[in-house]
Amino acid sequence: MRMRSLAEQFDAFLFDLDGVVYIGDEPMSDAVEALGRLRAMGKAVRFLTNDPRYTRQQFVRRLEGMGIEAVPDEVIGCGWATAQHLRQLGVRSALVVGNAALASELEAAGIVPTEADGGEPPTVDAVVVGAGEHLGYRHILQASRAILAGANFVATNADGRFPAPGGPAPGTGAIVRAVDVATGRRPLVVGKPNPFMFRMALESLAPGAQAVMVGDNPATDILGAHLAGLPGILVAREGEGGRPGITVPQAQGASSRRGLLQADAVVSTLLALFEPSPPLRHWAPLPHPWPERVSPGVAAVVLGPEDRVLWVRRQDTGRWSLPLGHVEPAESLHEAVRRDVLEETGLVVRPVRLTGVYSEPAAQVFVYPSGEAVHFVTCCFLCRVEGGCLQPAPDEVSEAAFFEPGAPPPAAMAIHLQWVAHALAGGPEAVVR
Ligand SMILES: [Mg+2]
Repeated sequence: MRMRSLAEQFDAFLFDLDGVVYIGDEPMSDAVEALGRLRAMGKAVRFLTNDPRYTRQQFVRRLEGMGIEAVPDEVIGCGWATAQHLRQLGVRSALVVGNAALASELEAAGIVPTEADGGEPPTVDAVVVGAGEHLGYRHILQASRAILAGANFVATNADGRFPAPGGPAPGTGAIVRAVDVATGRRPLVVGKPNPFMFRMALESLAPGAQAVMVGDNPATDILGAHLAGLPGILVAREGEGGRPGITVPQAQGASSRRGLLQADAVVSTLLALFEPSPPLRHWAPLPHPWPERVSPGVAAVVLGPEDRVLWVRRQDTGRWSLPLGHVEPAESLHEAVRRDVLEETGLVVRPVRLTGVYSEPAAQVFVYPSGEAVHFVTCCFLCRVEGGCLQPAPDEVSEAAFFEPGAPPPAAMAIHLQWVAHALAGGPEAVVR
C-alpha cells in the first residue's frame, strides 16, 4: 500500500508562526507554498502563536502582507486567548503590562484594561503580562505592587526568547520571571505549552477532525501538542535548497509517556508535509499535570516497638502516609530523612537501608495549592528509632502513631502500603549517606 503524505494523514494543521511561517516581517518561502497547497487540498488551518503583541486582525493583515491567506477566526494568538480565558474566569479589570493590542483584545472580551504606565498600581482583578519593547523597571514595579495588593498574576505566555532578525530576542517570559521573582507569586500561564490555546483551536474545528501541530519549539509547540493529545511535527530547517526530508523517530511503545518533548516527525522544510511518511503515533492526554520540575524526596518506614510501623496523618489531605519530605540543597539523603522524620514526628531515627526508589509519575506528581506541579523522585529508607519523643508537628501532621504492619491505619495511602511491603521484605542493611 502507498504511504500517505503527512498532508493526507490529517484534516487540520495547527501552525506556530514565529520561526515556522515567518521570522520578523519576512515570510518563509516554503511556508507560503505549503499553506497554499494545504488550502487547495481543503485542509483546515489554524495559527497558534505565543506572540501577544498583535490582535487577531493585525495577525491577519501581517500574514496577508506576506501573501498568506488567513481570517481572524483561524488565529489563536495568546493575547486573544488570554482575554477569552479571563472572561470565562469572571475577571472584569486588568492592568496590562504589554501593548495597546493586548489591551484591545481584553477590552473586546469585556474586560476593562488599564495600560501600565509605571505609576501607582490600580486596583484590578488581574495583572496581565504580555510583551513590548517599551517595558522597563517601573512597569515591573507597578505590576508587582498590584499583585502584592491582591490582583491575580496572569501571563500571556512564558517564552524566554523568540526568533528575531539578527538572533533570539527576550520574550514575554523574561518580564514574567522578573515579576515572579519580585513577588514570589506564580503566574497562570495561558500560552503554549498549556492546553488553553490547543483546546480553543480544536473546538473551532469540525467534530472528529484529525489535527496535528507544526512548530519549531519542542518546549512549547511539541510538548503542548502532546499534552493536548495531538501529534507534533518539528520544523528544523537546514538552509535552503536541500531535499525535503522527514525523520520519524521510533515510537517507544504505546504505553510509554517518555519523550513528551520529542517530536513525532522532524521536517527540514514545510514542503516535506507532501512527501510520503510513516503514520505518526497517537497521543492520549496525560493522566496527571505536567510537572514544572523534578525534585528529590525521601520517605521513611520507621520501625518502633515490636517492629510496628510509624504512620502520620496529614493536615492537608487528612490521609495517613509515611513520614516524608524533600531534600534541601547541600543535604545528603541520610540527613534529609533524619531531618524530615524529626520535623514531622519529633523522633530521632537512624536510616539503615535503602528499600526503594520511586519515580512513577502517576503517583509521584504532586500539585501544591499554588498550582505548582512537582515530580518527586523519592528514596524510601527503613529506619530505626534512636531517640526523641513522638510529637507531631501541628502545621503538617495531626496524628502520628505506630501500627502493626498487617493492620495499617484506615485510608492509608495505597502507594505507601506498597513501600512498607518492599521495606519489610528484607535485604542486607547498607550504609546510607
Ligand atoms: Mg516558533
